[in-house]
Amino acid sequence: MENPLTPEVLADPVALTRALVDIESVSLNEKAIADCVEEVLRAVPHLSTYRHGNTVMARTDLGRGSRVVLAGHLDTVPLNNNFPSTMRGDLMYGCGTSDMKSGVAFALHLAVTLAEPRHDVTYFFYEAEEIESRYNGLTLVSAAHPEWLQADFALLLEPTHGVVEAGCQGTMRATVVTTGVRAHSARSWHGVNAVHAAGDVLRRLAEYQARRVTIDGCDYREGMNAVRIHGGVAGNVVPDRCEIEVNYRFAPDRTPAEAEAHLREVLAGYELAVTDCAPGALPGLDAPPAREFLAAVGAAPIGKLGWTDVARFAALGIPALNFGPGDPNLAHHPDEHVEIGKIREGAAILHSWLAGA
Ligand SMILES: [Zn+2]
Repeated sequence: MENPLTPEVLADPVALTRALVDIESVSLNEKAIADCVEEVLRAVPHLSTYRHGNTVMARTDLGRGSRVVLAGHLDTVPLNNNFPSTMRGDLMYGCGTSDMKSGVAFALHLAVTLAEPRHDVTYFFYEAEEIESRYNGLTLVSAAHPEWLQADFALLLEPTHGVVEAGCQGTMRATVVTTGVRAHSARSWHGVNAVHAAGDVLRRLAEYQARRVTIDGCDYREGMNAVRIHGGVAGNVVPDRCEIEVNYRFAPDRTPAEAEAHLREVLAGYELAVTDCAPGALPGLDAPPAREFLAAVGAAPIGKLGWTDVARFAALGIPALNFGPGDPNLAHHPDEHVEIGKIREGAAILHSWLAGA
């Protein structure tokens, strides 16, 4: 295949977005796009380029006093009659337009065109963000080459519709079990109904007043919800066991241990097991490159409610923000699209921040 990422395409973030969208890269099928990106970066004299699996990293080494990471994932969710891309007026439609090849285009365009950024830059294009974390290029690289991620600040180019989203909330899943005594439903007074017992758990969750908290000027809103329920033996049996899966989204001022303690307090008296947890990330607005970046954007950041890979950077001690042109509400949507104006606007902001002019 001839590389569609030609010099003319690389010079224009809009054309580049479109070319990237038109290289199919559903999770675990990122080889073709990673090959194209790697080939482009290896030809750039001011970059050193490395590859791990289908993750490509390129960096400047200009001896600047600080280093920033610009990161984007190369994969998309499965196609949904939205490939290849199409243009309708000022909108580009297609799988990955919003999440997040328009953001990847920002990084790749700057990598190729900006020879002397004011900070050293690590450009990071990674695989498998949309599926389980064991495949995630950031997870794999932080195990195999942790030094690739060293930086003073990271910008994740996930869709935020052109505003800066700071930090992210943590997420915890737990299973709550109610138990009873099995009996024939014709003589139900011999049993104790575990599904009925779940009613109290559900009532506590329905009545739960989720916390709202402002951290560094960013609002976070928590949520605690039953997301699945499973119980019952047969149509004539009083059930002796019911499992309720609960998802708790917690603000980044709580550690996972504090989140778990709070969950146990709300559901006190019930058997509860935490099955999965990812910590949140504090906003991280104090790092000097972050301050400069916010000045270039010129608008106040808002709190990120969903979980993103900024938390992985935060776990490495690197403050990180989200900023991308796509509308996050359109991510994973069959009508996924991106506004051309947002691509141009965002690319100009990043250029003025890193070029310092
Ligand atoms: Zn994404």
